[in-house]
Formats: sequence, C-alpha cells, structure tokens
Amino acid sequence: MILTNKRVAIIGSGIAGLSCAHELQTHGFAVTLFDKSKGVGGRMSHRYFGDWEADHGAQYFTARDPLFQSEVAQWVQAEVAKPWSGRIVTFGGGNAMDKPSDATRYVGIPAMTSPAKHLARNLNVQTQHTVVDLHRTNDLWKITTKERGQLPDAFEYLVLAIPSVQAERLIGKYSATLKAICQEVVMLPCWTLLAYLKEPLPLPFDAAFVEGSVFSSLARDNSKPNRPVYETWVAQASHAWSAAHVDHTQFEIEPILIQAFQELTGVEPNLHQSHLWRYAKLEQPNQREFALDPSIAVGMCGDWLKSSTVEGAWLSGYRLAQELRQTL
Ligand SMILES: Cc1cc2nc3c(=O)[nH]c(=O)nc-3n(C[C@H](O)[C@H](O)[C@H](O)COP(=O)(O)OP(=O)(O)OC[C@H]3O[C@@H](n4cnc5c(N)ncnc54)[C@H](O)[C@@H]3O)c2cc1C
Repeated sequence: MILTNKRVAIIGSGIAGLSCAHELQTHGFAVTLFDKSKGVGGRMSHRYFGDWEADHGAQYFTARDPLFQSEVAQWVQAEVAKPWSGRIVTFGGGNAMDKPSDATRYVGIPAMTSPAKHLARNLNVQTQHTVVDLHRTNDLWKITTKERGQLPDAFEYLVLAIPSVQAERLIGKYSATLKAICQEVVMLPCWTLLAYLKEPLPLPFDAAFVEGSVFSSLARDNSKPNRPVYETWVAQASHAWSAAHVDHTQFEIEPILIQAFQELTGVEPNLHQSHLWRYAKLEQPNQREFALDPSIAVGMCGDWLKSSTVEGAWLSGYRLAQELRQTL
C-alpha cells in the first residue's frame, strides 16, 4: 500500500516523462508511468523486423546544457550511450560536404531506446495503457485506459508527458490555461523509410542532411557503435513533404519513398518498412520548458515545450519535476 500523499501519475514514458519521473521518485514522490506502447522511450525508438533492426525515430543526440551533459555522462558510464563518430555531410546533386558539429554526437547502446530503459529500470511503468480519459473528484485524479477501463488507483498529481495535440485532448476540458498552451505550438509529421540492403551502399558518409529530395535526412544505422554489421539505412522525409502526404496510407506512400531512396542512393532496398510519425517535431522552439496548472495539480512536459531534441525533452521533464517539488 502507498502511504505517501505525493502520488503522481505520469502519462507518457518518453525521455521527458522518464526524466520527470526519475527526479520526482528520487525526492520521495510515488510515481506511476502509463504508456500506450509496449516499451519505454517514445520517439527514441528502435524497431525489430525478424532478421533486421534499426533506430526508427531519433538517430543521435547532443548535450549542450551542463545538466544534460552530466546526465549523459552517467549514461556513458552505465554503457547505455556512446559517442558516434560517423561522417555526417550535407548531400545534394551527388555532392557530399562535411557538416561538422560543435558538440559530440551520442547514440544509445545497443539501441536508441537504451537510455530510456536505463532511466526506467527502477520506475513503475505500466505499458500498453492508452490513457483515453481523466476524472477529477475530491482533489484526486483517476485514469481510464482503452485496455482496462477506469483504473482503481487515485493520484494527487498528474503529469502529461505526451505531444501537445494528445495532451490537449485529455486535459483541455479541465484547464483553459493548459489547453491554450497546447494550442500555441504546431507539431510536424515525418514519413520514415527503414531500408535493409544486402550490400553496403557505396556512399562516402554515414549520415546526411539531404537537399533536393523527398528525404531531408539519411543515416547508416550500422555505422553506429554496437550495431549489427549488415547494412541498414533510415531515411526521413522532409516535414513539408510529410505534411502534404499526412493523410495518405502507408500502401500509397511506400512506393514513393522507395523510388526516392533509389533516386538518391542508386540502390533499391532489399527489405523495407515505413512509418508515419504524426507528431515528430516542433515547428519552432518553445521558451516555456514546461507548463503547470497548480489549481488542478497538473503539469505538462515534453520536447514541444522546449526543443524537439532528446536534450530538450529530458530538460523539460527535469525542470517540471523541480517545479513540482517546490510548488506543490
Ligand atoms: C523521425 C524523428 C527523428 C528525430 N531525430 C532526432 C535526432 O536526431 N536528435 C534528437 O535529439 N531528437 C530527434 N528527434 C526528436 C526526439 O526524438 C524527441 O524530441 C524526443 O524523443 C521527445 O521525447 P518526449 O518524451 O517529449 O515525447 P515522446 O518520445 O513522444 O514520448 C511520449 C510518450 O507518450 C506515449 N503516449 C502518447 N499518448 C499517450 C496516451 N494517450 N496514453 C499513454 N501513453 C501515451 C507515447 O507512446 C510515447 O511513449 C526525432 C524525432 C523523430 C520522430
């Protein structure tokens, strides 16, 4: 039985929800996370397709804020992240030009989900719980999921660590303030092609910011440390192209993505998968970092309140946890 009066439900176990949960639990809150997926990590995703696998969402991350730098140092120490020294270029019209970074590029080890799994290791995460409704009675929150109906547990505090559109659907009827904050931002989609090739692609780089194509970026997954050796590439369509094709089916889009991949690389994938990230990235960075409505004890965090990066999402969750500790 939970005896603390600091019970917190966090909806979403992406890196923002996990960072918030970790910080709150460290300071005595009783935290339960709920996620609709089978595992943690959200858009830091990795997919397995029988005989092959690849990072599917975020391809790498950087750490510029000292707080996040020290978090990443712990991930490296725990061997769930490593620097990635792949050659990254801008690529267009057959020409590749180096694109150096002022910051180290890191990847999860052995997959981009690994830092999230590391953060979740001592947390109570309820996966395959799609939250479809919230109820507030006697200053307590109750949660209804698609899979199990209304859950018996009640919580003093609630955190929404999910993209803005999904957060608004759940909290809009309870808080005009939070609803308005959700409506401030635009999140852009991204069609993604994952390609397996029997032979290595004869391209002189490991990742590229692409110009003049359906795709805006390419990454050679097997160039990252601790990955399988066979050749896999992840190609992400530009946000503009993805937005123009957001209502198309996978069946319609996949042949277009394969043709664009062939035009760009000269090779047709031997195996492929495609996916639409409906809320992939934020249109413009946000200065808020997090949002809080103390009158109903609800906070919101996520990349969409800071910047669409792993670092932005982690910082948003961490800063919300700090604020909750002080405010509530
Ligand atoms: C294609 C792509 C490429 C990217 N590339 C990079 C990159 O190279 N570098 C970089 O730093 N960042 C990159 N990003 C951005 C980065 O992945 C995100 O900014 C970050 O992972 C967002 O974390 P989050 O916790 O805010 O949200 P998410 O990771 O989206 O987590 C939200 C979680 O909430 C869950 N959820 C949603 N609704 C519900 C509900 N109703 N009930 C229960 N659970 C729910 C979801 O399943 C998910 O697990 C990329 C993103 C995409 C999509």
